[in-house]
Amino acid sequence: MDISTKCVRAGAKKHDDTGAVSVPIYQSATFSHIGVGESTGYDYSRLQNPTREHLEKLIAAIESGFDAMAFSTGMAAITALFEIFSPGDEIISSDDLYGGTFRYFKNVAEKHGLKFVFVDTSDLKNIEDNITENTKALFIETPTNPMMKITDVRSAAELAKSRGILTIVDNTFLTPYLMRPFDMGADIVVHSGTKFLAGHNDTLAGFLVVNSPPLSEKLRYIYKTTGACLSPFDSWLVIRGIKTLAIRMEKSGENALKIAKFLRSRPEINKVYFPGFEDSDGYLVNKKQASGAGSMISFETVDKETALKILKKVKLILFAESLGGVETLITYPYTQTHADVPADIREARGINEKLLRISVGIENAEDLIEDLKNALEAES
Ligand SMILES: *Cc1c(COP(=O)(O)O)cnc(C)c1O
Repeated sequence: MDISTKCVRAGAKKHDDTGAVSVPIYQSATFSHIGVGESTGYDYSRLQNPTREHLEKLIAAIESGFDAMAFSTGMAAITALFEIFSPGDEIISSDDLYGGTFRYFKNVAEKHGLKFVFVDTSDLKNIEDNITENTKALFIETPTNPMMKITDVRSAAELAKSRGILTIVDNTFLTPYLMRPFDMGADIVVHSGTKFLAGHNDTLAGFLVVNSPPLSEKLRYIYKTTGACLSPFDSWLVIRGIKTLAIRMEKSGENALKIAKFLRSRPEINKVYFPGFEDSDGYLVNKKQASGAGSMISFETVDKETALKILKKVKLILFAESLGGVETLITYPYTQTHADVPADIREARGINEKLLRISVGIENAEDLIEDLKNALEAES
């Protein structure tokens, strides 16, 4: 079955006899027992809830995974995931990373004795050179946030597997509609469901998806014990969002290519980072492993004043953090999403005061381009 059909129909376990086409919101904290030692399959909503279960089956189906767990946020999912590691374990991570994940690794997880090595994972040699006998996992974002670097997931997972290391992929940017890491050997897929999966900038959510029963068992135990589960209503919102994932990803991807080309044609822009450009560094690898380049664009303006002017003058495009929704958003990674990355590291990675990031939505592309053109040409 094609993924676009799964997005609309998967997870559909029949929950009641009414014939309801939309899965009901089971707004219940607890479930009554038929008798001692008997259960309807539901006991308490921290463990499982029928609405959330529907969503989890849907996510597992579209990622081609064995099990999926729905969390209250992406960060809650990532935090729960790192409970499987022990003090002394080392993790090799992409160095260009979502700011919140970097903050969690450096300021929270390291306190518990985990060690993180940040490398440019787009070059496999950087991974290989940093593997030690304590390395337990590889954490990859591709495209990276915000510099859009591409890592070869298949080669990285192959290398990791040969050394007994878990491969974890944060698939927030491309979603399973464009890339399925399990097909390339990954062990765990992470999502901020807040972004493209939910897709409407109206709820927060996170997912851990695994492709093996032992990992599922381990993480389910942590999941029910630590309790950052997604509410029934938010689960329902994400289910509804995913119904249109395929058409949203198609439309925002088409828009992104048009906008990236427009930005590249402008004298006020130094450089556009977009893996959909045939001459971009990661183009061929991304083309091999994903069916599209997504709808995230970063670009560097000629000077700081131009970047600030764009943020001030855009009207249709909203100056807001987050990404992946139907509304086009623009952010300033330097002071927003990546403010907690130390200044020298930020600069070295190109996250400077001239860098802007756009999450392209599903509005009309010409309207969005017009808005950017007006902002670029406005008096500051
Ligand atoms: C937003 C984001 C996260 C964190 O997700 P929240 O839902 O905001 O907690 C993790 N990874 C990436 C790539 C993200 O964009």
